[in-house]
Amino acid sequence: MNLARVAQRLGITECRLQGLQETIIRESAWPEPRLLRFEKETSGIEAGTVIFENGEIVFGYPKIRRPLMLAAAIKRHFSDIVAVEEKMNGHNVRILSLNGEIVALTRGGFICPYSTEVARRLIPESVFEKHPHRVLCGEMVGPENPYVANDIYPTDSIDFYLFDIAEKNHRGTLGVHKTHEFAQEFGLLATAFFGEFRKESAAERIKQIVIKLGRQGREGVVMKDPENIVPPLKYTSSKTNCSDLAVAFRYYNDYALDFFVSRAVREGYQSVEWNESEEERRARALSLGESILLPLVDTIKSAQQGENIVQKVQIRVKSLQTARDFEYHLRRSGIRTIFEPPEPDDGGYLIRITKLVMSTNDKTQALLEGEMW
Ligand code: ATP
Ligand code: MG
Repeated sequence: MNLARVAQRLGITECRLQGLQETIIRESAWPEPRLLRFEKETSGIEAGTVIFENGEIVFGYPKIRRPLMLAAAIKRHFSDIVAVEEKMNGHNVRILSLNGEIVALTRGGFICPYSTEVARRLIPESVFEKHPHRVLCGEMVGPENPYVANDIYPTDSIDFYLFDIAEKNHRGTLGVHKTHEFAQEFGLLATAFFGEFRKESAAERIKQIVIKLGRQGREGVVMKDPENIVPPLKYTSSKTNCSDLAVAFRYYNDYALDFFVSRAVREGYQSVEWNESEEERRARALSLGESILLPLVDTIKSAQQGENIVQKVQIRVKSLQTARDFEYHLRRSGIRTIFEPPEPDDGGYLIRITKLVMSTNDKTQALLEGEMW
């Protein structure tokens, strides 16, 4: 690897790069191709940035900030026009071609064997034949998403929705319009585009969109500057905040405290900003309360009946090797699982996976036996 060139592409000195190699850059030798990964953000280089053996760089997908007061934040943040896209709820992948082979990177910069197989099935070869340096950034969603299973999207398995395009070795993305044109040209799915609004009227329009999305169980929106000058912002529906909480309370000891607090606080701000009636506010309080208490009670009762607290997901693969590799990938990410024997299905295999939720399991057992919190 030509260190000087890599450092230049990253926008840092070679000496600094060497320093980082001893601290936050980690090697990932499996699966092929080998790569170096930025485990944390540094010097403006996003976490999840990857350097491949041949010196090619794929920058991490930037964090998207979230306002709690929508109208005030839009006014402050955007210069004039706000483009609004659907925010989809699955996992972030960056798909690229390396030496003629498609690979899919997770947010953290690992090659995910399952996402890679899905990408190879869904992305037409012509995309990278024509644009070998492009990096397709998007969300994988569906009921057979083993990270975030969701059955609200029109697929029985898993799909890829494009929301941004980057170039290898370059920071930044091409922007909303080029992304949607590109998706159209190659017949790729893209996140829904709800239109462009002047910033004075955007908050009210977005409120209506988010309410409607919420009713459909969908997550929310990402607001983007069509000129790509200021970074995007995200905003989610109450339904999503509550269903996140429901999952987190079901596995309450496996989530960080901030996950719970931030979602509850969002509900407070949304209720105030949207100027709810007494009745609407009570309805919100009820669904917030239910999403906290009911899953928690479920978990405690199951443990009381001697059941293990687990989370079941499933994937569908063409090759058994993908399933074996994915099992290893989850293990190295610190997720403990049981993979059931593959069930042949439509030329491929259905794999049922049980994720063990060890911490919640142990904590609940101990508390039931009279242990202190
Ligand atoms: P962050 O991006 O702030 O690190 P996070 O990892 O917790 O947040 P989310 O809260 O889901 O993730 O929000 C950001 C993510 O939303 C993006 O990384 C991307 O995967 C996803 N996303 C879904 N739809 C879109 C879209 N239309 N445009 C951009 N990102 C989208
Ligand atoms: Mg998400």
